[in-house]
Amino acid sequence: MSYGVGMRSRRVRERLITRLEEQGITNLEVLDAIRTVPRHQFVDEALAHRAYDDVVLPIGHEQTISQPYIVALMTEALMRYGRPKRVLEIGTGSGYQTAILAKMVPQVYTVERIGALIRRAQERFSEMGILNVEMKLDDGHVGWEEKAPFDAILVTAAPSGIPVRLFNQLEIGGKMVVPVGPEKKEQQLIELTRTSEGYEQENLGSVLFVPMRAGAG
Ligand code: SAH
Repeated sequence: MSYGVGMRSRRVRERLITRLEEQGITNLEVLDAIRTVPRHQFVDEALAHRAYDDVVLPIGHEQTISQPYIVALMTEALMRYGRPKRVLEIGTGSGYQTAILAKMVPQVYTVERIGALIRRAQERFSEMGILNVEMKLDDGHVGWEEKAPFDAILVTAAPSGIPVRLFNQLEIGGKMVVPVGPEKKEQQLIELTRTSEGYEQENLGSVLFVPMRAGAG
């Protein structure tokens, strides 16, 4: 292993956990998942020394690995009323958020439109022995009809409006967390709960995600 010891050390990871707690993350299972999933293995070796800073980092193809605080916030929102069993993620990217989910729920489905990213994420899951993730190369706007319904959907790229086709793949009582808004401007992180009549909506604050693009590849 050529990684420096520093970035993997317990102290460096604990510092990140403390920072997340200070920012208001309270779910101990979420904090524990972030403590144990090795974020440095989801970025290039050249950036690994920054993996436990609470920052966005580039992963190539003009995409980024989300900031740990945002990963924590979204995961916490998704788990607020208990743990979902089948979760769909849109925007696999590095696979880091996927791995956090895979640690917490029985089955994760993830959709990514860039083939090189999905292949690299798949390698990481194999190396780490993560077996409860199924992946698909596709435009996330279509979701994954064959595997629906899901009891939670997490979207990690920003569509310009609520993605209806995806929302319809939620179970009644299921939850979707999605950053909605224009490209390169602040988006609103929205938590939607599907009800028998429609949905309830809560706003979790402003965020900045890469856009959810149309089409695969
Ligand atoms: N969850 C990721 C964040 C990746 S950034 C992580 O933890 O690393 C968002 C990802 O969404 C990018 O990889 C991008 O290619 C992908 N994406 C953008 N539009 C998409 C779409 N329509 N369908 C599927 N994935 C999409």
